[in-house]
Amino acid sequence: MTLSVRVVGVGDAFTARYYNACLLVESAGTRLLVDAPPALARALRDLGDRGGPTLGLDDVDHVLITHLHGDHVGGLEQLLFWRRFVTGRKAVLHAIPEVLAGLWDARLRGGMEVLMDAAGDRHALTLDDYADVRPMPAAGEAFSLGDLSLAWRPTVHHIPTSALRVTAGGASFGYSADTAFDPSLVAWLAPSDLVLHETNFGVHTPLAALVGLDPSLRARMRLIHYSDLHDVEASPIACAREGDRYEL
Ligand SMILES: [Zn+2]
Repeated sequence: MTLSVRVVGVGDAFTARYYNACLLVESAGTRLLVDAPPALARALRDLGDRGGPTLGLDDVDHVLITHLHGDHVGGLEQLLFWRRFVTGRKAVLHAIPEVLAGLWDARLRGGMEVLMDAAGDRHALTLDDYADVRPMPAAGEAFSLGDLSLAWRPTVHHIPTSALRVTAGGASFGYSADTAFDPSLVAWLAPSDLVLHETNFGVHTPLAALVGLDPSLRARMRLIHYSDLHDVEASPIACAREGDRYEL
């Protein structure tokens, strides 16, 4: 295996049909979870019903959070609690500094900072107690997670968000993460063997903008983060489906 991308979830923030958008990237020696949506343990387990091995919260080496919206980070508490209190395997957590700055104070601290034991004693914990926290370097600067090489760049979204390019052994994939239509981002992603691009309403990328792209790029593109209302069967650009595995 050179580089494999498994689709854990395809849905948007409001989905009642899918898991929220989430990817599992694997190379020969590394397993990277991109985003940690709500119901993460169930989403990973369900991969086993869709032609892959059943996975659990321990089966990822690295977790990368693209941004702080709940549909991308709402399952992180579950993963971190499990790894600290059940299996004792500290997760390695990656995000851009702007995301890390808010991750603890704005998302996790309320439920994870002060924990009372059965005797009533309070124990104060920090994010570093739960995870090996690794800020991602400057945009465009390559960095390694195991045998994966990554780079990120900002997207056009409500809050700081990182799009990703991942390469291993000469194979590559790009992930738009959440973004408005941004031709410069599309150009940055385009050299990849596979591009997973979001589409949705409002501040997101309209499908019509992607349909207007070069056919050779559209052929390597799969949609993700689409609305429950999107007609997957009739989609003019193929949709990623939960359980899909792309071997690059
Ligand atoms: Zn978002």
